[in-house]
Amino acid sequence: MAGVALASGMPWACGMNSKKNAQRSLGVALVGLGSYSTYQLAPALEQTQYCHLAGIVTGTPAKEKRWASQYGLAEKNIYNYENFDSIASNSEIDIIYVVLPNSMHADFSIRAARAGKHVICEKPMAISVAECDAIINACQEARVRLGIGYRLHSEPYTREIKRFVREHTFGDPLYVMAEAAYRSTGNPDQWRLNKALSGGGALMNMGVYAIQSTIYSTGKNPISVSAQEFSTRPEYFKDTDETITAQFEFEGGVIANIMTSHNIRANRLRASCTGGWFELDPASTYIPLSGTTSKGKIEFPQESQQKLQMDDFALHILENRTNRAPGEMGKRDMIIVEAIYQSVAKGGKKVPLDLGGLGLAKD
Ligand code: NAD
Repeated sequence: MAGVALASGMPWACGMNSKKNAQRSLGVALVGLGSYSTYQLAPALEQTQYCHLAGIVTGTPAKEKRWASQYGLAEKNIYNYENFDSIASNSEIDIIYVVLPNSMHADFSIRAARAGKHVICEKPMAISVAECDAIINACQEARVRLGIGYRLHSEPYTREIKRFVREHTFGDPLYVMAEAAYRSTGNPDQWRLNKALSGGGALMNMGVYAIQSTIYSTGKNPISVSAQEFSTRPEYFKDTDETITAQFEFEGGVIANIMTSHNIRANRLRASCTGGWFELDPASTYIPLSGTTSKGKIEFPQESQQKLQMDDFALHILENRTNRAPGEMGKRDMIIVEAIYQSVAKGGKKVPLDLGGLGLAKD
């Protein structure tokens, strides 16, 4: 296991952030300082109890100074993509969090593992199942822990849905509808619309949320999928999928429909069960989720999902607590993504899935 950073010399040790657990806070280095790192992860790391921002890896020199002064980072904890591997000898970094375009996840996650650091890899885990396997193998060989940036598994509304399913609160789920989509109108040259960098369009970016919704709302992995692709703005979506719908079958005749899009605004899940129903709307955004059931509203205090996610991962390392989003879960979802693209290519033909219990969360 990578070394545990000591509190001395850290800004929060002088009382700047009293939430930190002074004895047991792991140092996190963010790789890629784009919008998710800047506006979600770094602010969340100021609220976490069991980990803190200790370093950065960036290809943009102008960001080095800005981040160093904003977060009080030591110069020796600032890396670029070229000298990244030398992070191996930095005992203040325990966890490397890869927040780069999807096609770069495998390379940097594998290098992070080989540097002896625990790894959080953003979603989608990679752009192929083969890459997911390579990341999992590298982490196993280096004996480091691997988590995927699936923040919802630490989020209270989602955890409540998982409890409903575990405890049969509404009987058995029979049908799930899940949508994860937004309307993209920005720069058509952005990496998310470039297949070489993103690995795919809406399905890779948002579809993984809809896939996950069907799985935690049924408590099962799908056994087959049929899928269709639609495009209304081919001049904008030149290289990647715009809208995909897919139908899943699960053991016992349970069924689900998903829709994912970079052209439509939608973010919901609804499960109809033998004894009632539950719904989240929105279901996968990070501010804030909302839930209703056939027994009434569900309500939880709002907290940063990223804070909860990163503290959960730190506690997985520190106390061997459950890894809520392990590499196998990211791989499982990539197997499903590949099956969906296969079905689309075959004109919607049903593609069987043989996942067993792969990646099913324990709680
Ligand atoms: P972004 O475009 O805002 O940032 C990407 C970062 O990668 C930038 O700092 C950019 O400089 C760097 N980069 C390095 N090489 C690049 C290249 N060749 N092309 C483009 N950028 C390059 O993206 P983001 O929204 O921060 O997303 C980063 C990752 O985080 C993605 O995998 C995305 O799916 C994931 N993400 C997850 C969530 C979540 O809720 N879990 C939310 C947003 C993004």
